[in-house]
Amino acid sequence: MQRGTNLGRLGGYNQAVILDAIRRAHEGIARVELVERTGLSPQTISNVVRRLVDEGLVREDRKTVSGPGKPRTVLQLEVSSRLAIGIHLDPVVMTLVMLNLDGEVVARARHDNPGAGQPDGMTAAMAAAVEELIAASGIERHRILGIGLAAPGPIDAAEGAVVDPPMMREWSSVPLREPLSRLTGLPVLMDKDTTAAAVAELWASGRQEPENFVFVYLGTGLGAGVVLDGAVLRGASSNIGEIGHFPVDEEVPLCECGKRNCVGMALNFGTLFQQAAETGIFPSDAELGDRHQATESIITLCRKAVEGDAAAAAIVGRAARLVGGTVAQVVNILDVDRVIFGGPLWNGLEELALPILHQEINTRFVSRAIHGVEVVSSSLGFEVGAIGGACLVLDDALSPKASGLLLGS
Ligand SMILES: [Zn+2]
Repeated sequence: MQRGTNLGRLGGYNQAVILDAIRRAHEGIARVELVERTGLSPQTISNVVRRLVDEGLVREDRKTVSGPGKPRTVLQLEVSSRLAIGIHLDPVVMTLVMLNLDGEVVARARHDNPGAGQPDGMTAAMAAAVEELIAASGIERHRILGIGLAAPGPIDAAEGAVVDPPMMREWSSVPLREPLSRLTGLPVLMDKDTTAAAVAELWASGRQEPENFVFVYLGTGLGAGVVLDGAVLRGASSNIGEIGHFPVDEEVPLCECGKRNCVGMALNFGTLFQQAAETGIFPSDAELGDRHQATESIITLCRKAVEGDAAAAAIVGRAARLVGGTVAQVVNILDVDRVIFGGPLWNGLEELALPILHQEINTRFVSRAIHGVEVVSSSLGFEVGAIGGACLVLDDALSPKASGLLLGS
């Protein structure tokens, strides 16, 4: 068990297989098609479907199809019957969303500077934000499956804690999952924000064939979430994707790991700010300020670059090339065919950086004669971490997984 907490699939493996098939059939699906698609017996399908209808998770619709034959009865997911809450904990801002079973955002909220640097304050602020969100949504509490928490890595998945959190440097380990569950009375799952973002993309894409992609998260740090053969990879301790210390062939400021060539430092807000101050984009006596002010400055730098300021474009372009070179090596190791960029910094960078990243990744990809690498922006915007948190809950409750196969049916 790597993930520490499991919400428990809604009603076992067969039910998860059937719910998954109904969820993916947006036009509705008949019982006979469910038999074909799942390989389960008509009797099992019938029993499980009756239970799903009784529980309000699925409804029956009479549908008239064109051509001869009587109208058929199709089953459809009752998308608002259950909901999931996602929280993305970022050093600057806490983002919350509530998703229905279709992965659609039905309520959202943002709060600045969560918790004022104290673990108790942090969990109390999260719990209060959850209560506010539930009250504002008007959703009955019993319909909420749970909370998914997307936190900056590294995380201690077994303890449900963040380790050396950037928003609370004086604390080495801050347990969040259990206190948040205690305060809200709801089950809580936790994962790294980069992995949660990858889960969100997997839910949003709805592709039938197994996917292979890397989600690159650009925020206060640089991290990656990995999906191979349709499965989200986590690693031995759920800390996969720490790509910020990949070496680059240019000197960048000293990293906290002790090296002078870490790609993460090329993207570091302090590094970018200093370069901007040296070239006169910001006044030479300007200061980086707190995380909030630093973020604003970097957004300004990106905007100037996009608007045509040559010095700003050179700074941002250099950072994009270094990130592209690193991501190309990740792509070479994993042989994915898609890279998705997102995170709080991405919106400002997208226009300028996307062509540079595409070029760097595809020219350095060793197997480019076999297939290209699609380089795209996340369609989920700045909420991708929070949506990912909620998708952890949907995934845990609804998706049939390999672990379910081991348990049998
Ligand atoms: Zn480093």
